[in-house]
Order: sequence, then structure tokens, then C-alpha cells
Amino acid sequence: MRTPLIAGNWKMNGSVERIRAFGEAFAKAEFAAALDIAVIPPFPYLEAARHAFSGTPLTLGAQTLNPQPAGAHTGEVNAAMLAEFGVTYVLVGHSERRQCYGETNEDAYQRVRAALDAGLVPVLCVGETLAERNAGATRDVVLGQVAAVMQRLNADQRERLVIAYEPVWAIGTGLTATPEEAQATMGEIRAYLVTLDNALAETLRLLYGGSMKASNAAELLAQPDIDGGLVGGASLQIDDFFAICQSA
Ligand code: PEP
Repeated sequence: MRTPLIAGNWKMNGSVERIRAFGEAFAKAEFAAALDIAVIPPFPYLEAARHAFSGTPLTLGAQTLNPQPAGAHTGEVNAAMLAEFGVTYVLVGHSERRQCYGETNEDAYQRVRAALDAGLVPVLCVGETLAERNAGATRDVVLGQVAAVMQRLNADQRERLVIAYEPVWAIGTGLTATPEEAQATMGEIRAYLVTLDNALAETLRLLYGGSMKASNAAELLAQPDIDGGLVGGASLQIDDFFAICQSA
């Protein structure tokens, strides 16, 4: 009922050549079941990707956006620009943005709103640090990050979101939450969505992120509240990313 989504976050990696190779490899790809796939390269590669991915199952995502409509914001890119370049998904509140660039829950809300207003699908990233997990605060932190955005959206806006649960201690570390750990927190997110609206909880896709790779994707994706993956490192290699897509 929820079409799985596998999204590859290239972070500050990639090249035009890699974009071209992904386009070629996925042009011949066939998947058994319905599946959405996104590649999320750095901004400069969006135009090349738009061409290389045309006629393939790959859709395009962006890694962040500035919520302002235009103006004196040197180095920034707004939602309308992403839409003009054929972007479907945009990451919001990735832990690297929260940790390295000081983005807050308020920033996440502003970015989600700007993305929605431009017709983009925001992928709201949430997750606890190791210290927060060890302090028993996982549920409060994660639901707090989700609620900070969801509470301020109306019903139409909420249903256009994707939420990615990414325990910070599992991102880029090679440590993966066990399927049970991931399911426990993602089940809490689903339960929170039920308190907003049953139909929303049924349809909104929850992705797991944090060292997902070909060898652990199937078990994670088999969990009832895991509807896909946000994949960092393993999304840079065609064979690995392809294998993860096949697990979905
Ligand atoms: C990410 O960047 O969102 C991520 C999950 O990275 P990795 O798969 O490398 O842990």
C-alpha cells in the first residue's frame, strides 16, 4: 500500500561521469514490485542528472534548500530553482546540516514549507545522537523533531511529506541500528502520526537511514514500519545501490 522509496544521498561526492554511469546502468533496470528511487547528488550535477536519468526509474533529489524566495543569500539555492531543475525530493534537517550548520527544528519547518510551496516532496530527517540514546531520550528527541514540523502543517501539507529516521550514531559510521531498534523507534513515529490522523499514518512513508547497505537492507526493509531507505555511502556504488533497490 505504501510504495517503497530508496533514496541515495551522495553528500559532497560524485562526478558527471558517475551520474552518466548511473543513468546507463538503471536504464536497463527492472524491479519486481513498485518502487520509487531517487538519487540526491550535489547541486552542480542536477542538470546532468536530469538528462542522464530521463527514461530511467531514477528521480532526482536535492540535499538542502534555502527557504527564502530570492535575494541576497550568497551561495544558497531556493525551492523554485530546484523545481526548475526537475527535482522531486529535497532533504530537510539532515543530521549533518543540524550538526555542522546549526540548523534547528524551526529551520526544518521553514524549509519544509518552502519545499511544499514549490511542489517538492520534503524528506524530513530526524534522529537521536548516541548520548541521547544512552540517556534514554530517543523517543522524546525523535518525536520532538517530527512534531516540531508536523504540528504546524495542515492536513494537505502533512500528507506530502516523507520522514527519514536516521540515528545519528549510525550515519557514516558503519554501525547500523538493528532491525528491531529501527522498528521500535519507527513504530513510535507511526503511532504519533496516528494521533494526528489515521489515514496519514497509513500512507506516509518512513525511511530508515544509517549505514544501510546491500547486506542489511532486506532485514531492515522487512520491518512493518520501514517503507524504504535513505542511503549514504552505499548509494555511490552502482552495484550496492542496485542491490538495495532490489531488496525493497
Ligand atoms: C545519510 O547520509 O543519510 C546516511 C544514512 O549515510 P550512510 O548510509 O553513509 O550512513
